[in-house]
Amino acid sequence: MHDTSTAAAAAPFWRTKSLDEMDPAEWESLCDGCGRCCLVKLQDEDTDAIAYTDIGCKLLDDFGCRCRNYPDRQAQVPDCVRLTPQTVRALDWLPPSCGYRLVEEGRDLYWWHPLVSGDPESVHAAGVSVRGKVAALEDELPLEDFIDHMVRWPLRLPRGAVRRKARG
Ligand code: SF4
Ligand code: SF4
Repeated sequence: MHDTSTAAAAAPFWRTKSLDEMDPAEWESLCDGCGRCCLVKLQDEDTDAIAYTDIGCKLLDDFGCRCRNYPDRQAQVPDCVRLTPQTVRALDWLPPSCGYRLVEEGRDLYWWHPLVSGDPESVHAAGVSVRGKVAALEDELPLEDFIDHMVRWPLRLPRGAVRRKARG
C-alpha cells in the first residue's frame, strides 16, 4: 500500500500549490534569476505585439542577472512590472522558461532552476539566463538604436537545456 500522505508531504511546494497559495518566501524563490524579463521590450504601435531586445533595464546586473535595487525598483523604474498571480496570467511575454509561467501552466520546473538544482549558478550554466547576452543597458544607448537590438531568444528555451532535462 502506498503512503500517499507521506508522498504529498514530501512534494515540493511548486507542485502542490497554485501561485495564489504561495507565501512570500515561496513566491520570491520561484524566480530562477534568469533576468530575461528585465530586458527592454518594444511594443508595435499598430499591433501591440511585444518584441524583446538584448538591452537590459538600467538596474539590471548583467552578470548576476538580478535587479541591482530590487526593494526600491519601482521608484527608479516606474514601468517595472511587479509580478503577481494576476499579472502572470495576463502577460503573454513572460519567457517559456520562467518559473511563474511554468507553475501557472501546471508544468514542473526545469533541472536548472535553483529550487531543483540547489545551485543558483545552474540557470547560468544552462544558458537560460541573460549572462553574456546583454548588449548594453538602456541608459547606454540612444533610443533610436533600440530597434536594431530586437531578439527572439528570450521567448525560446535553449535546446541544450531541454535535452539535459530529457536525460535527467
Ligand atoms: S523571467 Fe521569470 S524566472 Fe526569469 S527573472 Fe523574470 S520572473 Fe524570474
Ligand atoms: S527595475 Fe529591476 S526588476 Fe524591474 S526590470 Fe529593471 S532590473 Fe528588472
